[in-house]
Amino acid sequence: MTKAQRKTHAQADISEHDGATAKGARHSCRCNVLASTRHPGFLFLLGLALSFGVACIGRTAEVETLKPTDAQIAEVRQILRETPLIDGHNDVPWQYRKRANDDLNGIDLAGDTRKLKPPMATDIPRLRAGGVGGQFWSVYVPSTLIGSVAVRAVLEQIDVVHQMMARYPETFELALTAADVERIHRAGKIASLIGMEGGHSIDNSLAILRTTYALGARYMTLTHIRNVDWADSANDEPKHHGLTPFGEDVVREMNRLGMLVDLSHVSAETMRAAIKVSQAPVIFSHSSARALCDDPRDVPDDVLKMVQANGGIVMATFLPQYLTERARAHAALHKAERDRLEKLYPDAPEKVKAAMENWDVANPLPHAAALNDVADHIDHIRKVAGIDHVGVGGDYDGFEGPPDGLEDVSCYPALLAELMRRGYTREDIKKVAGLNILRVMRQAEETAARLQTQGQK
Ligand SMILES: [Zn+2]
Repeated sequence: MTKAQRKTHAQADISEHDGATAKGARHSCRCNVLASTRHPGFLFLLGLALSFGVACIGRTAEVETLKPTDAQIAEVRQILRETPLIDGHNDVPWQYRKRANDDLNGIDLAGDTRKLKPPMATDIPRLRAGGVGGQFWSVYVPSTLIGSVAVRAVLEQIDVVHQMMARYPETFELALTAADVERIHRAGKIASLIGMEGGHSIDNSLAILRTTYALGARYMTLTHIRNVDWADSANDEPKHHGLTPFGEDVVREMNRLGMLVDLSHVSAETMRAAIKVSQAPVIFSHSSARALCDDPRDVPDDVLKMVQANGGIVMATFLPQYLTERARAHAALHKAERDRLEKLYPDAPEKVKAAMENWDVANPLPHAAALNDVADHIDHIRKVAGIDHVGVGGDYDGFEGPPDGLEDVSCYPALLAELMRRGYTREDIKKVAGLNILRVMRQAEETAARLQTQGQK
C-alpha cells in the first residue's frame, strides 16, 4: 500500500473507530499538569512532588462538587507508587498512523500533545501526572481492512509500539508478563503492553496469531465493529450467534499461548460463548455496564456474573456513548444522519463530511458524560461481579469528546479519589487500579504453562 493509499484508509476509517464522531476536539482540559519542560526524568519527579493540588475538575457546577480533597489525591498518589495503575486500552499507535503515517517523528510524546491539531489526550508528561504505571497500547487497525492487508497493518502498528520503546527508553519498557509490569513499575517506568483490537488482524490464521504473540501482543479483542468469519461484533448483524468451531479454536490457542481473550466490542452471544470455552480468565479491555447504558457494546449483568465465575475483569471505559443514555441517543442520531447522507451522496464523501460537520455544529451535546458516570459504572460492575473483577480502560486517543473531569491521561487520580470518596478502601483502589488485571495476567500465564505441559493445541 502506498502512503497515499494508507492515508485514505485511515481517513475513511477513523469515523467508525469506536463510534467516534467528527465532533472535533471540543473539550478544554482543566487538569493541572505542568508540561513546559521536556525532560522526562524531571517530569517524573515533578509528578511525584505534585502530591497536592493536581486534580481534574469537570466544567459543570454539578461536577465541581465532586472535586476530591488534596488529602485524597495525595493518598491516591501514594497508592499508585505502591501499585501500578494499568489502563486496558490507549490508541496512541493509531494516532501515529493517522497523523504521521507511522513516522515516530510525527508526534513528540515528550512534549505537550494538547498543542496538536486536533489535540491529543496522551503524552509522557500527562501519563506521569496521571500516575500511569502500565498501559496496554492498542495496535488497532480498521475492520474494513481484510486479509493480508489487515495483517500487514497490524504488524506495522506493533512496530510502532516497539519504536515507541526505542525512542523513549527512559519512560517506556515492553512488558510481556505480570512480573515484567511490576519490575518495570518499580524501576519508575511505564510498563508497555500490546493489545490487538479485532480478529480480522489474524486473517483466520492461527500461525499469524502465534506470530503476533511472539512479537509481544498480550491480548486480542475477538472483533472490532464488524463480524469476523468466526465471531460476531456487537455492532453488526448477528451471523454466528457466538463462536464458530474455528472461533473456539482461536480462543483455545490464545489460552495455550497465554494471550488474553478480550471481549470488548463482541456481541453478548459471543461474550457468553467465549467465556464458556476459555480456560483462562477473560478481559474486557474497554467496556461499560449495559444496565446503566443500553448500548449493545456494553456488558449485560448476566455476563458480569459469568466474568465473576470465570475470574475475569471488566475494565471500565470512558467513551460517553457507552456511559450515558443521552450520549448513546445522540450518537445514534449522528449515525443515522451519516447513513442517510452516505446513501444520498454515495460518490461524494467530501459532501458527506461537510454536511456532518454542519450537523455537529447544529446538534451539540455538551456534558455528554462526566467522571461520576464512569464511577457509577465501576460501582455497578463491582456490585454485580465483585471488587476483584473491575479495572479501567480509558480508550484515550481512540475517540473525541471525553467525559467532564476525565479529559486526558492525567485524570486517573481524580477518578480513583472519587472512588475513595464513595467508600472504597485502599485495597479496593489498588485492585481497580492494577492488582486485578495483574492477577488475571498471572492466571492466564499459569493456564498457558499448564496447557503447554499437557501438550494441548
Ligand atoms: Zn475499541
